[in-house]
Amino acid sequence: MNYEKVIGLEIHMRVKSQTKLFCSCKNAIELESEANVNVCPVCMWFPGMLPAVNMEVIRLGVLAGLMMNCEINKVSRFDRKSYFYPDLPNSFQTTQLYEPIVGAGYVETMVEGKMQRFDIHHMHLENDAGKLSHAGGKTMCDYNRSWSPLMEIVTMPVFHSREEVMEFLKELQKIMRAAWVSDADMEKGQMRCDVNMSIRPEWSSELMSRTEHKNVNSFSAIGRCIDAEFKRQKKIVESWWEVEQETRGWDDASGTSSSQRSKEDAMDYRYVPEPDILPIVLSDEILESAKSQVVELPIVKRQRYLDEYKLWEDDARILTADYDLSVYFDELVTLTNDPKKSCSIMTSVLLALMNESENKKEISQLSFDISQLAKVIELINKDELSSTNSKIVIEELFEQWWNADDIVDAKNLRQKNDMWALESVVDGVLSANPEQVEDYKWWNERVFGFLVGQCMKASKGQWNPKIFNELLKKKMDA
Ligand SMILES: [Zn+2]
Repeated sequence: MNYEKVIGLEIHMRVKSQTKLFCSCKNAIELESEANVNVCPVCMWFPGMLPAVNMEVIRLGVLAGLMMNCEINKVSRFDRKSYFYPDLPNSFQTTQLYEPIVGAGYVETMVEGKMQRFDIHHMHLENDAGKLSHAGGKTMCDYNRSWSPLMEIVTMPVFHSREEVMEFLKELQKIMRAAWVSDADMEKGQMRCDVNMSIRPEWSSELMSRTEHKNVNSFSAIGRCIDAEFKRQKKIVESWWEVEQETRGWDDASGTSSSQRSKEDAMDYRYVPEPDILPIVLSDEILESAKSQVVELPIVKRQRYLDEYKLWEDDARILTADYDLSVYFDELVTLTNDPKKSCSIMTSVLLALMNESENKKEISQLSFDISQLAKVIELINKDELSSTNSKIVIEELFEQWWNADDIVDAKNLRQKNDMWALESVVDGVLSANPEQVEDYKWWNERVFGFLVGQCMKASKGQWNPKIFNELLKKKMDA
């Protein structure tokens, strides 16, 4: 019998606000090198301290919701989820169980060339805990991240393959980066994913009992976890046992998972409404401010590059893989009005240089002005610079700030299009090679290339071969 995977995801993302969720401590997006420097009595939850909601986080949460086509709840509330762990000084997490800020919606993306829609159940805000590290038989607590804001995005069980999960997660990452809501870097722990999965016979539409794998922390680990869990559940079902509903821990090194605890329900966490924080009522101001920051979705941008600019599918995918890159491309097109050439200069020259570079791997690290790159394209289009030589100019721009025109002149790369000078070269070549000219007139096309070569040689390769071609033809056909 064939079985189908049914997968739902819970994704935690670090929100890129300036300060923490309930106090004015710095929200360190990346871990500080020194422990416990971003803490105060509020985020250490000292007795008598009261939290105050950071409205910037609320606005970013609304923005994230809008970018996922979600309903925005004008009123949301925080709840206390009680559990003890040394990285949580007050023994409860402040989260939104019953009335989250963002309701149902969807994210669209391409999976194997087909546009697919994946439903979001809701998104809520909550606080992060501290970080424990173990060394020399001791455990140390670092509360720098304590009370940093997290979004938890919960999907419907709508995924049926690892490809769908991968494409969705990559799209989500792109969306949050585009809107400046989160850097969503999995390697830095800014995006973490729990994988909920069950299987069922292909003909069935019933939801079977599922397992949850916590914090599977890289794209490749998620893929391996899905494959291994499918095999494990299939084996259980095929031997007439039932899959137990439980939380399992994924060990990526061994490629296996093990049972951690049977699934707890809301009762076990003793959820209670948070008494110290009033319900969040969204003002029109916050809603409007979030709406004004909605940007074009990466997938829409990709489609626009295909439809409007007629780019190749691969190029459109590459240019929209990174939001900054696509913004740069858009800007270059505005300057040049030439999407195709802008695309080829970026994908075949600029990205290659960035890949090889040690310290200029990001668009934001480029030191030359974009107008100079536009200038290179303009020179190519005016036949003043050959495509081959344009590479040299861009390499120079990349290395040091300079003016494209100056580089072209300093390196003697400008193609001469002075017709009178070109004609005299052609005349010289024709009179120096009477035999070849005769051969050409007797329909020997091969000598033509030789004659163009002679012209290029005479002009030291600086002049435009296209014009030599035209002139030679015109003169010999006459
Ligand atoms: Zn604080």
